[in-house]
Amino acid sequence: MEKVRVALPTFEVFRAEGGIRVEGGKGFNRVEIRSLTARDLKEGYAVFKTSPAGKPFGRFHTERWSILGIFDNLSRAYEVAKREGGTYRNWVEGWGGHLEVFVNGQRWEVESPFRFEGEVWVEDVWVGRGFHWQRRERAFYKGVFYAYAWGRGVKVVLEVPLEEYVAAVASSEMHPEAPAEALKAQIVAARTNLFRTAGKHHPNEPYDVCAEDHCQVFRGFHVLKGDVLNLSAETAGEIILYAGEPIEARYSKSCGGITEEFSVVWGEEDKPYSPSFRDWEREDGHSASSEEGFRRFYPVEDSFCNVEFHGIENLYRWEISYTQEELTERLKHLGVGKVLHIVPLKRGRSGRIYELSVLGLECERRVKGEYRIRELLGKPFLPSSAFLVEKERGKFVFRGMGWGHGVGMCQMGAIGMAKRGHSYREILEHYYRGGVITRL
Ligand SMILES: [Zn+2]
Ligand SMILES: [Zn+2]
Repeated sequence: MEKVRVALPTFEVFRAEGGIRVEGGKGFNRVEIRSLTARDLKEGYAVFKTSPAGKPFGRFHTERWSILGIFDNLSRAYEVAKREGGTYRNWVEGWGGHLEVFVNGQRWEVESPFRFEGEVWVEDVWVGRGFHWQRRERAFYKGVFYAYAWGRGVKVVLEVPLEEYVAAVASSEMHPEAPAEALKAQIVAARTNLFRTAGKHHPNEPYDVCAEDHCQVFRGFHVLKGDVLNLSAETAGEIILYAGEPIEARYSKSCGGITEEFSVVWGEEDKPYSPSFRDWEREDGHSASSEEGFRRFYPVEDSFCNVEFHGIENLYRWEISYTQEELTERLKHLGVGKVLHIVPLKRGRSGRIYELSVLGLECERRVKGEYRIRELLGKPFLPSSAFLVEKERGKFVFRGMGWGHGVGMCQMGAIGMAKRGHSYREILEHYYRGGVITRL
């Protein structure tokens, strides 16, 4: 199976339970390995082997690595590795420097990169850093690791089979109990994004993609559940092409009934395969880009994403309100004084506002960008920027549609389509217009 090399999230400290510890950013490079069965320790290179070998993937046993030895030169390490059935051909050269390696408290200096294999739980890994959902979590990784001396710190790259990577990405992006056809659509989208970005975003670095939003979020294998690995195998190698190139397969939780265009959300050029369209069996002429259009569309119930699923709030429609005092307090950093009106100025076809006026007693301020608008008015974040503002009995009431940016595949809609009997191919053809599903 093809492999993918993922740079794990950048962190100040990479702390792992009973496994590896990597520290960086403090003027030294350091990798610490604990709880290993050490034998035959000699200065130099370490060779590791997971035990027992060949376990089924995705069952989270926490075997420790065993260390086969630390050697004073690389060829001796290769020799032992070979004798023990290891494969150590993948050392990458060119990222020089030395790493300090601590094994059971003992210090060794090794050349970068330092390669090891195993299964490991890591504490406090950032997820979604820089976004409103940012948090830290405990992450599980398994595969071949490379620790690089990187500037003044350490970068850890994980090498894993491609289909396992894709299954893990898809499991963290969609509820693992979603219908199989919806999950398969998500898997093909994740694989497409991998092929679109691999080697392009980080052309001079010794990995294919990073694990963050910049390339595609990979949280580790603790998220892998249910049948996702089998579903990934069922669609193995399939990606979506447009004009011969992998598409930028965007997706969000719920479009709210009409999908949005790239330019509205990211200010970039629109993509021919991601136009705005009705998330339904047929086009019915609705557009929510004007205030009247928005009001006409708001009560419409016929949409794939208007679906019941596992009691998850689908946010097809939602409502949030503020008193004038609350809103004034919330927006005081804008310096407009007491808030009098919130006026949408520009909307995309899905109704998503990308320019807004906040009129206060002292002045007016304009706010641009759907993400910025959601951040500005949410508690702590609005589900989407597709909303109406109405004043009712002294309150500002926001009535909204959808969840997320609304571009590309609507994930609740994919679930809705699967529940109505559509296949993953039909789901992908609906959301990525003119995209051709191709097996590599
Ligand atoms: Zn990246
Ligand atoms: Zn939708």
